[in-house]
Amino acid sequence: MRARISDNTQDAADFLRDGRLVALPTETVYGLGANALDETAVANIFSAKNRPAFDPLIIHQSNANRILEYASSVPKDAWKLAEAFWPGPLTLVLPKKDIVPDLVSAGLKTVALRVPDHPLTREVLNLVDFPVAAPSANPFGFVSPTTAQHVADQLGDRIDFILDGGPCRVGLESTIVGFPDGKTTVLRKGGLPIEDIEEALAHAVAVRTHGSSKPMAPGMLSRHYSPGNRIELFRKLNTDTPVPTNSAWITFGGGGPVFSHHESRSLAVYNLSPNGNLAEAAQQLFRVLRLIAERKYEYVAVQLLPEKGLGRAINDRLRRAAATE
Ligand code: AMP
Ligand code: MG
Repeated sequence: MRARISDNTQDAADFLRDGRLVALPTETVYGLGANALDETAVANIFSAKNRPAFDPLIIHQSNANRILEYASSVPKDAWKLAEAFWPGPLTLVLPKKDIVPDLVSAGLKTVALRVPDHPLTREVLNLVDFPVAAPSANPFGFVSPTTAQHVADQLGDRIDFILDGGPCRVGLESTIVGFPDGKTTVLRKGGLPIEDIEEALAHAVAVRTHGSSKPMAPGMLSRHYSPGNRIELFRKLNTDTPVPTNSAWITFGGGGPVFSHHESRSLAVYNLSPNGNLAEAAQQLFRVLRLIAERKYEYVAVQLLPEKGLGRAINDRLRRAAATE
């Protein structure tokens, strides 16, 4: 089997109705979708990705009004956030109703819900009469895909259909917000900046830091997004620092080109955004991490971004890409 790449939403909907797997474009990253209420189809997501069964999936729905079909209660803050940011890069973790298969929620009593903001995928969600469970369309532990071709490269022989919606606009996974003990808490940093959430709610929120042991959500494993190179993180890269042959830098700001190669030092330099634009850096991040992996640099030095706005989510991904356990 080799996945067909197309922008035909009717075909995507047909495959989903058939219980098959379809890669879907969203504004965050490409997702690997299946009928969320069909346990067999959902099980196929886990096997295609080699995803461990303890890692729950996000349910994608066509609009916020459907939240009560899958969630048994919705705190006030959740409604406010849904209203302010859906469709958009926000996932809400809420107490689940029995209709949600345990496999989707990995046995948890909660379910993760999102209304994605991509015209093709919204069309598909409107064409089918079930919600779509979709984790990122990459093998478990690897960098998330931000183009249809990324999906084809890694999962093309395991799925039937890739809906091509062009490169993802945001480029980072959704920000996940839950309400443990009634406290509004960011469980995973992502494409919606925490500052925006706090502004919409008019109060500060808790931010859970991840750890490698017993993560509440495996998107929080310390080692994830692993390109396989030796990666070191810096506050500021020093142009005089010697580097081994076949090295790369990932930088941000400071002008210049997005890519340059310094023959004399055998050093490739990738700039996530020469103008210092965080949204552009987010959009470029996974593409650059993919290139780093493909080109098998011996050593990669990374300059961390400012710890604000999307910079926090980008640094989170960079730290995990650099983690060795
Ligand atoms: P992915 O789309 O591959 O980034 O995976 C979805 C993310 O959502 C994973 O990190 C999950 O662990 C997280 N997630 C899904 N359901 C829940 C839940 N009920 N509680 C906490 N996190 C969840
Ligand atoms: Mg993922």
